[in-house]
Amino acid sequence: MQKRFHFDTEAVQYRADAAVVWCFDDRFTLTVQKFLKRNGLARLDSIRVAGGAKCLASPREESERTFLLEQLRLSRKLHGMDRVILVAHSDCGAYGGLEAFGRDPKTEAEHHRAELTRAATCARDALDGIRVECWFANFAGVWDIETARSAGTA
Ligand SMILES: [Zn+2]
Repeated sequence: MQKRFHFDTEAVQYRADAAVVWCFDDRFTLTVQKFLKRNGLARLDSIRVAGGAKCLASPREESERTFLLEQLRLSRKLHGMDRVILVAHSDCGAYGGLEAFGRDPKTEAEHHRAELTRAATCARDALDGIRVECWFANFAGVWDIETARSAGTA
């Protein structure tokens, strides 16, 4: 192997503040990262797959749910993770984008609120004693699902 880059990384084990399940849509990377940091969440096991929490709420195949739950179990086993953050976002390609909701942000936000609720139940059922939070990111920021209902008006 040929060295391509030098950077010193601490070889210590860590305890994950949370496992974050989110979509790989890079438009929301900075928003979500900033919000995680704002919430004091520094050590994260980031699980990024198309649609994020959709794999738990409404997977195309059961194997997607099995895979994602296994990732969460591994995060708990390897890094003592006891908090899951499920993130959905506006205009997600895995849901057909905003187009799929008639370009109505309120309808979209409501749909994601229901999806996140389903995903949270799935995660809680699979991982005993786990804490689960649900966030919805749009082009104006990050919402918790209780307020996602009004996200379309922001
Ligand atoms: Zn997406």
